[in-house]
This record gives sequence, C-alpha cells and structure tokens, in this order.
Amino acid sequence: MKSFSQYEVWFITGSQHLYGEATLSEVTLHAREIASALDASEKIAVPIVFKPIVTTAAEIYEVIAHANTQKSCIGLITWMHTFSPAKMWINGLKILNKPLLHLHTQFQRTIPWETIDMNYMNLNQSAHGDREFGYICTRMKLRRKVVVGHWKEASVHQEIDYWSRAAAGWHDWQGAQFVRFGDNMRQVAVTEGDKVGAEMQFGFSVNTHAVGDLVEQMNGIDPVLVERLVSLYESSYTMDEKLKVAGSHRDFLKEAARIELGLKQFLEAGNFKGFTNTFEDLYGLHQLPGIAVQRLTCQGYGYAGEGDWKTMALVRAMKVMGTGLPGGNAFMEDYTYDFLEQGGVVLGAHMLEVDESLAEGEIRCEVHPLGIGGKADPVRLVFTAGEGSALNASLVAMGDKYRLVINKVQAIKPPRDLPNLPVARTMWQPLPDFKTACAAWILAGGAHHTCFSQNLPVAILEDFAEMAGLEPLIIDEETNLRGFKLLLNQLNA
Ligand code: MN
Repeated sequence: MKSFSQYEVWFITGSQHLYGEATLSEVTLHAREIASALDASEKIAVPIVFKPIVTTAAEIYEVIAHANTQKSCIGLITWMHTFSPAKMWINGLKILNKPLLHLHTQFQRTIPWETIDMNYMNLNQSAHGDREFGYICTRMKLRRKVVVGHWKEASVHQEIDYWSRAAAGWHDWQGAQFVRFGDNMRQVAVTEGDKVGAEMQFGFSVNTHAVGDLVEQMNGIDPVLVERLVSLYESSYTMDEKLKVAGSHRDFLKEAARIELGLKQFLEAGNFKGFTNTFEDLYGLHQLPGIAVQRLTCQGYGYAGEGDWKTMALVRAMKVMGTGLPGGNAFMEDYTYDFLEQGGVVLGAHMLEVDESLAEGEIRCEVHPLGIGGKADPVRLVFTAGEGSALNASLVAMGDKYRLVINKVQAIKPPRDLPNLPVARTMWQPLPDFKTACAAWILAGGAHHTCFSQNLPVAILEDFAEMAGLEPLIIDEETNLRGFKLLLNQLNA
C-alpha cells in the first residue's frame, strides 16, 4: 500500500517522429515498462502513472496543461528515450506549475557489445536526448531535480521517493489554510513576516481568528464527549494522581479535554491544516492549551507556539512528507544546553507543546503550574523522545528571500534522569560538533523554533526547498565553519 495512494506522479516520455512508427512503438513499450516498475516499487510512496509518449509541441503542451489542473497529480517525471528536440518543450514548460523530476536513465543498463548497431543507437539516445532537455530547462531557469541512474537501481527508486514525498508536502501547501489565534508574541523578530508574500510564494494562507470564537466552540461541547475523551486519556497515558477521579485537579483535566474537542471542531469546521496561538492572548481560556496541541499535532495538524506561523506551516509540510515512515516530526525549540556532557548537548523542549509522535516509552499525563500566561495549571503530556539520527529545520524570512536552515543531529537518551522537568523533552548532539553547529546555525540566522524530524533525511528537505524556492543551508558532518561563512557571505551579498 502506497502512503500517498490518493496522489499520482505522471511519467512522460519525450520523442519525435524522425524514427518511424516502429521505433515509436518500442519507445512506448519501454516507457510503459519503466513507469510500471517504478509504480510497483515498494520504495516509492506515490503511484507513478504512465502517460502516452509525446512527439510534438502540441502534445507536450496538452499533457502539461492537463497535469496542471489535475488535482491528484503532484508532479511530473520526464525522460527522453530518444532525442526530443527541446524547442518543442518550450510552450509546455512555460506553463508547468507542478514539480518536475528529470529522470536521466536509459532503457538498457549495459551496451550489447555483440549486437549493437545503428537501430539500437537510434532507440537508446537518452545520453544525449536528456542533455537537450536539460539545456532548455536550465535556459528557462526551471527548478527541478535531476536523478541519474538505471531505472531498476534501488538508489534511483529512493531518490524518486524522496522527491515524491517533497512534492506531496508542496502539494499539501497549495491552497492550505492555517489559523493564527492572536498575533505573534510581542517584540519577537523571527516569528514576524510577510504573509502576503508567503502566500504568493508558498500557496498557503494564514489568517487570524479570535480566541473568543474558539472559546465559544469549546463552551458548546457536549459534556458526554468530554467524559469520553478523559477516558481515552486514562487508557492511553500514565495519569498524574492529581488528575485521577477525586484528584485535586480533576476539573483541570476535563477543561483540557474540552479545549481539545473545541479546537478540533474549530479546525475541522474551517478546513484548517494547522494553527498557532500565543500565551499573550488567551482571553476566555482557563489554561494554555498543552495536551490538546500535543494530541492534535500528533494527528497531523501543523503547530508552532507564539504565533510562529512559518514554523507551523513547516511542521505541517514535514508531517505530510514523513507519512508512513517510522518516527515523528514535531515543533521544537532549542531550550537549554549542557556544555560538558558529550562535547555539548542540546535539551530540546517547549513550554508544553512538543507532540507525542516523537515519544518512546511511557507517556505521562501531568498537571503543573506555568510561570507565564497567568492562567490555571495546564495539563500536558510528559515523555522522552527516542534516540537516533534526526534533524532540525528552520524556515526564516530574510526580507528578500526565505531560507531553510537544516542541522543534522544525533538524538540521544538523556544521560541522567530529569525528575523535575515537567515537559516533553528530547536531547541531541548537533553535527558536525556542538560548537560548529551552533555557530553555523546562528550565523545563518536560523530560528529558535524548528521542526524536529526523526524520519526525514536532508535530501527530502533539499528537494522541498527546490520546489518552494527556499535557500537551503545545510549543517551536517561535512560542515566546517570557514567554508560555511564563505558560502553565507556569497549568499548575503
Ligand atoms: Mn517558543
């Protein structure tokens, strides 16, 4: 079962009429065989759909116009089995508004040394046919991915899968609606931004809604539903004594459940894919949403705190891209450091909202006072995230462009207990090392809010950045600060 069975990637093969009908029939057979093999590949999460070969400018224009308007089509794979003079592609490519992957493959993996003749040469021209196609794409400044290799290679399937996942994330953003309850946190710089420009570039809209409208939904929630959700909490998590029946904070738990139900109803009614809020604007709410946010984001909604709508949208896209993969994607903040432990480690957390998709082991449902917000003690889930390779990604506005800063990290088990820390937490060592990674991140302008991913390789985010026109800055095992600064100086010039 494909993780994205509702979507399609179209496989389009270019040729021309120079070679005669017999050759074109063979091109069709071969193209169909490649598309079927890719579609059958368990490594590729999106169905691959064969489209009839295109041999004229009119056919090329028609199939691209169709792809543009077909809702289920999230991208195109193109391949030139023979030569396909690329001026024929100009008008089609001019209108293309879906992601493009140029597959530079060849039907035969090896040269048939004994039998190769000019008939074979006429048919197997990808080596130069794809260069002609590549030229026109570069000349037209088209953003695309080029994948090189034989179509049966596992690494080719993996690269197609990565790009397809990125395309699914990009597709999900188009027309997506997000809610911002209140404005962003007062005086904070990195969470500000140009929502008009973002909608023009990224396709999603962010609009404000009054917290009071949410409160009204919450207040109308049937108490029976509240009791049912409280029971679900009790069967899913280890409950704090104070939250149990006859516990001192039982009503706080009911209130938290009411917030979750009201929020979910609000999001569903407005067809929203995510939300952001701020502790500075909680009028009518008895407690800052904690468990509600954690559980809703675990279900796939985008979220970031303090009105940070850019991180919220990124969290949503990354959750979509990771569909079906083990591990999670969650809103995160670099919270505090240990400079000595293992060469420097980061304790990642937030006030309440890191979602349980990251959790490994016991999840406790607890209630504690919160120093900010001036509201009742919020209920939250407390857990430790699993260890393993992971990354942090940050979408920041640089004024004239957006940057996607990515840092590969190694998530570790906290070396000691944290018995008094009342929030979900993860701990990691950034690559290549703590000092280089932190300096590079700060010089790049990366935010304190991120999406922390346990299941997305950097390559998927690089493909996503290409589609979205983001400037990717990658901090990984190969980063050295001198080279990174040179790159930044060029990009900032
Ligand atoms: Mn924050």
